[in-house]
Amino acid sequence: STSQKNLPVKAKTTCSYCGVGCGIDISVNLKGNIEVEGTSDHPVNRGMLCSKGRSLNYVVQDQSDRLLYPQMRGAKNHPLQRVSWDAAIDRAAAVFKTFIEKHGPNSVGFYISGQCLTEEYYLVNKLTKGYIGTNNIDTNSRLCMSSAVVGYTKTLGEDAVPIAYEDIELADCFLIAGANPAWCHPILFRRIEQHKEKNPNTKIVVIDPRVTDSCALADLHLQLTPGTDEVLLHAIGRVLIESGNFDLKFIQSYTDGFEDYKEKVLKTSLEEAAVICDVPVDQIQLAAQYIGDAKGFLSLWTMGLNQSTQGVNNNLALINLNLITGHIGKPGSGPFSLTGQPNAMGGREVGGMASLLAAHRVQANEDHRKEVADFWGVETLPDKPGLTATQMFDALDSGEMKAVWIICTNPSVSMPNADLVDRALKKAKFVVVQDISSKSDTVKYADLVLPAAGWLEKEGTMTNSERRISYLPKVVDAPGEALSDNEILIRFARRMGYEGFNFHSIEEIYAEHCRLTKGTNIDISGLTYQRLKAAGTMQWPVPSADHPGTPRLFEDKKFYTPSGKAQILPGGNKNECDQLSEEYPLILTTGRVRDQWHTMTRTGKVNKLNKHIPKPFLEIHPEDAKVRGIEDGMPVLIQNDRGEVRVNATVTEKIKKGVVFLPMHWGKILQNSFGRANNITSKTFDPTSKQPGFKYSAVRVEKYKKP
Ligand code: SF4
Repeated sequence: STSQKNLPVKAKTTCSYCGVGCGIDISVNLKGNIEVEGTSDHPVNRGMLCSKGRSLNYVVQDQSDRLLYPQMRGAKNHPLQRVSWDAAIDRAAAVFKTFIEKHGPNSVGFYISGQCLTEEYYLVNKLTKGYIGTNNIDTNSRLCMSSAVVGYTKTLGEDAVPIAYEDIELADCFLIAGANPAWCHPILFRRIEQHKEKNPNTKIVVIDPRVTDSCALADLHLQLTPGTDEVLLHAIGRVLIESGNFDLKFIQSYTDGFEDYKEKVLKTSLEEAAVICDVPVDQIQLAAQYIGDAKGFLSLWTMGLNQSTQGVNNNLALINLNLITGHIGKPGSGPFSLTGQPNAMGGREVGGMASLLAAHRVQANEDHRKEVADFWGVETLPDKPGLTATQMFDALDSGEMKAVWIICTNPSVSMPNADLVDRALKKAKFVVVQDISSKSDTVKYADLVLPAAGWLEKEGTMTNSERRISYLPKVVDAPGEALSDNEILIRFARRMGYEGFNFHSIEEIYAEHCRLTKGTNIDISGLTYQRLKAAGTMQWPVPSADHPGTPRLFEDKKFYTPSGKAQILPGGNKNECDQLSEEYPLILTTGRVRDQWHTMTRTGKVNKLNKHIPKPFLEIHPEDAKVRGIEDGMPVLIQNDRGEVRVNATVTEKIKKGVVFLPMHWGKILQNSFGRANNITSKTFDPTSKQPGFKYSAVRVEKYKKP
């Protein structure tokens, strides 16, 4: 129920779905009914909202699925029973203490989410790395943005998206690679659409193995074979170099590494690249021509490039196109990774991954560890690298890790090779699930369930894809006994006997985080809740109290690398990935549909969103369908050694021949065991970013015959 004390309420907040970060006006009337509307003067969405954002009020008001009070099992396989918060926190602290004492701090870990607010991310990282003494904390951003993090860091010296959304209206060429913003970042796509309507000469190139809705706006669609992105991007680079369509002055003044890159891209002829990627030579040449002729060139990418065992190489290859053409640090230009989750950026700012420390410091760097340890007033930070997402579930499976605390994410549906994840959660000695929804498939593996407050029910900050930080107020009360994630973590830390968690408000947590960024490239020491509330939103860095924020980075062409120059890197060798075979001849790629979000624990509650695409499906090309006797709508079986999926076929020329597509949203609760795409995805990951290759799994498809 909404707060009865403060009605009616009007407030401004930010959408809690994708990384676009649209502003939302909230009103709660005397009856407690919530209404949402796009904030008309918000710099991101200018009053617009997509179907998901527009339905957020239903999600908050429908509390039928909410976890309302802590629950605990007396022992494995015993039923969950309601307990008090004190009993729940006592149990969590007792179990964690026992494992830490008996098996060391690396026997426990936290798996968190890009949907956590920045303060929550900060607290749980401080707790894990600073006090428990392990780097075993990773986030579902590992499945989403970690290849982009490495790509930016290697080339620009910092995990920093250099553009601002206002660059959209200043660009005259867009390269959209491995992304379907029409469905997954709809408001940004609407801005691109409006820009092209006003400026029809704007060129849009889409690289995708599927004909998505984003292709409707494209002047050119390169329908490549999955896994060949780097080859295609290098081929475009080759044409730019051979046609003299590159910026030699910029390259010589502001970059290192061009000669190595040139040597690499010239090694593969255009004809060879065309065969590897299955994209005609003239299309590669035309893409290069559009980029070469542009005054403002924005490259946009997301999961298609990142979720690959080649994820880092893909990122380098794309960023190189901006660097060799000098299209960075100027209006309408830059490499722009579209963030998936609403606060994946904020999470990275506080060092929310196993490999990071606060303010983009690096866990492997001794000086960085010392800086953070000194700031927190602890002796040292652990030097052993932490387990990343897939490694953590492997470690639970093998028994190396005993306990995991999962916050705001549903790995039973979202992780690759999900059967292994289920097995690992069953085998784990102790699983804590801290969430808002009983409809998360992961809840059933929990020994301890902690009910959390959701969007509008707690206060904090988030950072969107363009480094824009916004303040989210608490507007309504959480249902039942649910507490904010910060409150839960503070109670646990205090029960563990840790000092350093004596916060009296969320604002104090944020202020501490801001102080820890001082002097770094992402300095927001000039930011306070007061400033954020007054300004609405601000883009980092904000290094002093009178600094106005920074919409576009690198306008001075000074990069954050040791040489001060951007690094044009040729990329490494091809990494191991699933192999096609006679038995498994088709490439499975997975992705999202327009009106669902992640594992549907929120969007799945909204009837009008479910109507768009009510069930999971397999897209298959007519020729691949025909040889298998498959007709449109028929049930099909998709299999490999990891498991199987049974859904109905959508026979369509929109998918490339030899490739099939499954949406990733449905889990066992909302569908059945056979609708979960991740039953069959590969957990092979990029060796540097550790991001799994969801976009390339070898499978067999056949008609499903009832046994
Ligand atoms: Fe929310 Fe993203 Fe839609 Fe904007 S585009 S309303 S942030 S889901």
